[in-house]
Amino acid sequence: MSSSGGDALSDANDGCVGPTSADAGKASACAGCPNQSACSSGAFSSPAAIVAKEEERAVLRTSLSDVSHVILVLSGKGGVGKSTVSTQVAQALSSRGFSVGLLDVDICGPSVPRMAGVVGRTVHQSQRGWEPVYANPNLAVMSISFLLEEGDAAVVWRGPRKNGLIKQFLTETDWGDGGLDYLIVDTPPGTSDEHISIVQYLNDARPMMMSDDGNKSGASGAIVVTTPEEVSMADVRKELNFCKKTSVPVLGIVENMSGLQMRVSDLSFFRERIINGSETVPFDCTDDALSLLREKCPEVLSMIAAADVFPPSGGGPRGMAEKFNVPYLGKLPLDPNLLKACEDGVSFVEKYPSSPAASPLNAIVDKIILALPVEDEDGEQHGLMQE
Ligand code: ADP
Repeated sequence: MSSSGGDALSDANDGCVGPTSADAGKASACAGCPNQSACSSGAFSSPAAIVAKEEERAVLRTSLSDVSHVILVLSGKGGVGKSTVSTQVAQALSSRGFSVGLLDVDICGPSVPRMAGVVGRTVHQSQRGWEPVYANPNLAVMSISFLLEEGDAAVVWRGPRKNGLIKQFLTETDWGDGGLDYLIVDTPPGTSDEHISIVQYLNDARPMMMSDDGNKSGASGAIVVTTPEEVSMADVRKELNFCKKTSVPVLGIVENMSGLQMRVSDLSFFRERIINGSETVPFDCTDDALSLLREKCPEVLSMIAAADVFPPSGGGPRGMAEKFNVPYLGKLPLDPNLLKACEDGVSFVEKYPSSPAASPLNAIVDKIILALPVEDEDGEQHGLMQE
């Protein structure tokens, strides 16, 4: 991404001087840039091109003018729980009374509609734009999968079509009369053209967020989700570097699937049985084990059993947060009820308030609200669990 900010093109080289600059196409940074010939021909600085760009910015500004905070959810690779965190944080914020939008731009693998319980619903086009689907009165969801014709596969879409769609999402979704307190954006894994486009569109849409001495990004912040093992963390370093390069403030790192935690009463138990003289096979003795515990030590049944699944490497995600000087938001254990809530499309913290991952998830939501406060009519901050 270019360091020149505002009008650099999404696929421009580092150090881009901007397509409307007098040096466009001629500066040393232009060598090898895919836009070099268009820039040197003046295509981007013609009066018509400048008017078109300004019109695009004006539309972006209008569409997001009523959104207080835009939060990007990022992960280095797929399968680490990015959509889970996006959806469940959005659900939790909405149940605390905030007006929340959940925008799924994970175009190649949209899983938000299922997780938010709105799978198969469709968006309607009105004069004001696309009307999102409401998971509850406070939670509006917009996803590529609402727009796909049956059998259409977004997976094969190429860059320009994806970027065009992301722009349409940001410009044409009607988030409702009252606007939004939080817009949570579930992005694709990794750092790709889509991420660069989103950041640039948000910079165009929310120039008021950008100041010389503080925030330099139209996005309010990014949540970076990782699992604790090195393979996942190596990719997360790239995400953190992306945020640094694009000036998106990092709200913090969420360490997900950090060990398995389950109530003892929900565990299965196995006994090893020897067959053919030497081969051991496990057989299920859960009923026996649970009735023994009920009889001999019932208090154990309500305890939480924990096991490490992914061995943390080095200082783990917490150590990485310290190294990059960004907040560590907390760790979520592998919790079968969290998976179930996502499968059933319900709010995990509401449905399973005493499940092992509920309290850490609520603490993460508290930290997000503290970092990006929304004041009520009396100028008071609200929505914290630990008030
Ligand atoms: P990503 O968006 O990073 O590809 P997902 O959010 O789709 O990953 O998560 C992958 C799968 O793992 C989903 O089925 C999700 O419900 C499950 N999952 C994620 N985090 C947890 C967790 N902490 N405990 C249990 N299941 C989880």
